[in-house]
Amino acid sequence: MIDLHTHSTASDGSYTPSELVSLAVQQGINRLALTDHDTVDGLSEAEAACHAHSITFVPGVELSVRWRSRTLHIVGLSIDPLEPDLQASISDAKQIRIARAREIGSRLEKAGISEAYRHTRDQADTELLGRFHFAKMLVSRGYAKDFRQVFKRYMVQGKPGYAPAEWMDMQTAVDIIHRAGGVAVMAHPARYSLSSGQLRKALEKFKSAGGDAMEVVSGNCNTREAENMARLANDTQLAGSIGSDFHGPEKSWISLGRLSQLPASCVPIWQYQKLW
Ligand code: AMP
Ligand code: MN
Ligand code: MN
Ligand code: MN
Repeated sequence: MIDLHTHSTASDGSYTPSELVSLAVQQGINRLALTDHDTVDGLSEAEAACHAHSITFVPGVELSVRWRSRTLHIVGLSIDPLEPDLQASISDAKQIRIARAREIGSRLEKAGISEAYRHTRDQADTELLGRFHFAKMLVSRGYAKDFRQVFKRYMVQGKPGYAPAEWMDMQTAVDIIHRAGGVAVMAHPARYSLSSGQLRKALEKFKSAGGDAMEVVSGNCNTREAENMARLANDTQLAGSIGSDFHGPEKSWISLGRLSQLPASCVPIWQYQKLW
């Protein structure tokens, strides 16, 4: 079984890279990518753990990009994490994330949530705090009953726990992934709340920027959703990828290694470009 989109404590996942790999092995995954948000810090631990369990490891990253004043996510797979340009862009993105976390903290405080930053930082293993870390803090302190509610009330545009960020543009992300020897994959295309016309535009732009693939099977999508995405991938001449976007037990609706097969009409990214 293949899973090419997962998170660890190096970003906003709940398991360390080694714990994630053990869980993946238990679930029957034999090809696993770790794709933390804007960091490659978990890759060496995950690689060692995959090696110890004799499963294939695909080093990855999930980059945040700005497109028409929205944020989209691009996964880089099979990257060389030490490539200097990738390192430089990631270090810029980390600074953006750190500054944005401070801003989110102060916006939440203004909305009456005391010491929002400190509580969130104390609960996380990283200073690269994202919205999910703040969401966990809010749920654990009883400000919302679950993640659905906390995002709706606090963490989306127009709400107190949202702060905008000047992420890199799509072209830059694709270029640095390629320079680092990787393939560029549009993450979870169905999750951006774009109209179907806008989504198609985003994918066309991604293709013309040199993008290689899109996630046709993502999270807990069903067969019909995967078939729709496969059609879109074929229309925009993108290969297909598979990824759960697993973060941990909090998002109980997304589990590791419970993915549908890639529809037969798709070109799998691992055949389009040799990933293993
Ligand atoms: P960030 O990159 O810090 O802006 O945060 C984006 C992350 O927030 C995603 O990768 C998810 O982990 C999480 N997220 C976004 N929207 C939701 C939602 N509606 N429910 C649960 N988690 C979400
Ligand atoms: Mn996340
Ligand atoms: Mn994402
Ligand atoms: Mn993700």
